[in-house]
Amino acid sequence: MKFIKRVVLRTVCFPQDLIGLIALSVVCLVGGFRLFCIHGVFSVELDVRTWLGRKYAGWGGTTFSPHCVMFGNGQVRDDVIKHELVHCEQYEAAAVASAALAAGVWLVTGHALYAASQCVLAPWVIMGAAYATAWLRNEESVYRGAHIEEAAYGANKHDH
Ligand SMILES: [Zn+2]
Repeated sequence: MKFIKRVVLRTVCFPQDLIGLIALSVVCLVGGFRLFCIHGVFSVELDVRTWLGRKYAGWGGTTFSPHCVMFGNGQVRDDVIKHELVHCEQYEAAAVASAALAAGVWLVTGHALYAASQCVLAPWVIMGAAYATAWLRNEESVYRGAHIEEAAYGANKHDH
């Protein structure tokens, strides 16, 4: 049953991961140091000798889609991995929401392709909305005040 659920989740996330893999491929070509898989997540570590690697210096990582993550040079550390894996879970939940939305639009309109096209970007809208909401709530920092970042930074709180 666990395997079947994993296959279902990966299938639901496939449209977003396809876009994430395209983004990760571009990053790998422009500034990638190495491509690897960690905890089932496709990852690229940037090369500090490239323009992108230098621009990104000081940042830990960025999650592009449910299973695609970019790490800064030398940032493939436990705390950064834990942080980005929380974002992966958030993207997975958003992809499930996206699939549910698409099913609803399909039921209402009867057009599966239309439904899919309307909902495929929903995960990025959902994640972006967290930052917009932090801004609307007048959080001190839009980045750190977003609930998705509070959860991701919270993943490392109990390690000490
Ligand atoms: Zn984060």
